[in-house]
Amino acid sequence: HSGRDPADFAKTDRLLSAEELAVRDRVRAFVEEEVLPVAADHWDRAEFPFGLLKGLGGLGLMGGTYERRYGGSEMNNVAYGLGVAELARGSGSLSTFLHVQSGLAMAAIHELGSEEQKERWLPAMARCERIGCFALTEPESGSDPASMRTTATRTPGGYVLEGEKRWIGNASFADVAVVWAKGEDGRVRGFLVEKETGGFEARVIPRKGSQRAVWQAHIRLRRCFVPEENRLPLAEGLGSTLSILTHSRYGVGWDGLGQAADCYERALSYARDREQFGSPIAAFQLVQNRLARMAADLAQLRLLAVHMGRLKDAGELDPPLVSMFKMSSLSKARRIAALARETLGGNGILLDHRIMEHMADIEGAYTYEGTDDINALIVGQAITGHRAFAPRH
Ligand code: FAD
Repeated sequence: HSGRDPADFAKTDRLLSAEELAVRDRVRAFVEEEVLPVAADHWDRAEFPFGLLKGLGGLGLMGGTYERRYGGSEMNNVAYGLGVAELARGSGSLSTFLHVQSGLAMAAIHELGSEEQKERWLPAMARCERIGCFALTEPESGSDPASMRTTATRTPGGYVLEGEKRWIGNASFADVAVVWAKGEDGRVRGFLVEKETGGFEARVIPRKGSQRAVWQAHIRLRRCFVPEENRLPLAEGLGSTLSILTHSRYGVGWDGLGQAADCYERALSYARDREQFGSPIAAFQLVQNRLARMAADLAQLRLLAVHMGRLKDAGELDPPLVSMFKMSSLSKARRIAALARETLGGNGILLDHRIMEHMADIEGAYTYEGTDDINALIVGQAITGHRAFAPRH
């Protein structure tokens, strides 16, 4: 087998620069040394690994593409994506934490905030010393965020928020919540609600079967006062909100790749070692068929991911392309994880072999950041010109 690297069958590493590979290796080392020893146990106990935050904040990955004065590392989007994929390889729950902190909360402040808001929050959030969340979804408003019911009513010195939010990652311990609410004029605006603001309550949603090592919360906002200086000045209408999702959706695309790569490599290694009927199971045609399909899907996904990153760096990654990437990545990852799980037989369902955890975590990512259906319909609209998910009255 001629020195070929089965983990990079299509030789995609040659598309990457030394700086990009350095980011990948830095995150990989963190994952191997700090994440893997504790990941399965935290997932099993549904505990968030607070002990990893300092190390995570030291990687330069949170807001990694931003300017140094905001705590960023000015890395390009391919490097950022490679870092995300490595983190997801170690724990899909931890990369979900990253998407909320970096892809949603920091992105909202970076893109829509005032200079004071950026200076106050971004450097500390980049180091994970301050935690953020992003509250868009509501109990009755998921794929259709325009139907949100949370209101922001003007009052002397600021706004009063009233409503409920659901599925909000990190909200139970966040220092700042980016909350989306409708003004009296019906326009959606964004607000920075700080920890311990009266009337803000976030309760962790219990008994999840996916993304167990990261917490989502149900938020209640009851006469919650937010001063004018905590309104995101550039957030005007739902379009501003959706523009932020484009950033995190790009990151989530890399999650699928990282988790699927880990599943495949574990399946390959297991298939080489495990013997039945007097030979390694890797020698059986059916097992090879699975491995070949996983390797082919991964190669396609890697090529797509790097290309998406290059387009994003060039300012040419528009929302339908991001949707196509996220949809392709998570649906391929879902299939690869299932093939890998099967390859390990009974051991495949043990958490210590990691694949079952990836399979379960992928389900969450398959649904958040636009469900597979909604992303397909965004692509469909771009292809046909017909919007198939308009509100029906
Ligand atoms: P629904 O919108 O009710 O959809 C149910 C089903 O109907 C889906 O299969 C969907 O694809 C389908 N469907 C809906 N409309 C259409 C249509 N027009 N055409 C065809 N099919 C359709 N939200 C936040 O704001 N912040 C967070 O930090 C956050 N983190 C999350 C973390 C996790 C683990 C999860 C599971 C969710 C998170 N969410 C978060 C919420 C997430 O964005 C929503 O779950 C998602 O947008 C889908 O909304 P929904 O669950 O209400 O499903």
